[in-house]
Amino acid sequence: TERTLSIIKPDATRRNLTGKINAKFEEAGLRIVAQKRIHLSPAQAGQFYIVHKDRPFYGELVEFMASEPVVVQVLEGDNAIATNREVMGATNPADAAAGTIRKEFALSVGENSVHGSDAPETAREEIAFFFSGLELV
Ligand code: ATP
Ligand code: MG
Repeated sequence: TERTLSIIKPDATRRNLTGKINAKFEEAGLRIVAQKRIHLSPAQAGQFYIVHKDRPFYGELVEFMASEPVVVQVLEGDNAIATNREVMGATNPADAAAGTIRKEFALSVGENSVHGSDAPETAREEIAFFFSGLELV
């Protein structure tokens, strides 16, 4: 079993889609083992996405992620990282497969409803970024 960090982004929390998105995770066999709603500051969003600091969309991404509250969560299951990315679908909703979260809910490549860790090492770092040991059982 494995754990991954998921974020339900501002475009989705704004449209009240948390429950529908969580249902997709649970249907795919992922268990929500921690979850909270927070409003990131621009500095916190910038730190979280620091790996993208030289990409042309960095400023837009940081502004978007700090624009409204997000739901951060830890998902657990067999191959949770890959399973979650499968359920999320491609970054650009135009390329996302039918039935995926981004196909059904994303508005654009930027406002694409969810984030998911991309590897075991980033999952560990991203979980620790948002959750303390006390919040994780
Ligand atoms: P995430 O890291 O959010 O799970 P991802 O791994 O599918 O998504 P990345 O390449 O890591 O995609 O990009 C991180 C985020 O930056 C994307 O989810 C999206 O919100 C934003 N982004 C990526 N490419 C673009 C772009 N061309 N224009 C605007 N925003 C973009
Ligand atoms: Mg990514």
